[in-house]
Amino acid sequence: MWQLLILVVVIALVYLMARSKSKPTKKIDVPEIVIVKCQSCDLNLPISEAFKNDDGWFCSENRECQNL
Ligand SMILES: [Zn+2]
Repeated sequence: MWQLLILVVVIALVYLMARSKSKPTKKIDVPEIVIVKCQSCDLNLPISEAFKNDDGWFCSENRECQNL
């Protein structure tokens, strides 16, 4: 009787391991785009289009915001 119980436990463990392995792993290939906020007009824009200043990020150079 004990052998049957052990067999059931082993099958359950194998089943759980197989299920956890087959879980689809989400892999993000797209590089994450960092969004920064303009300190003057609160516009959110990608870091590649933003300008860094001593006070933070701005949507345009010399703080001449496009949205003001
Ligand atoms: Zn701005």
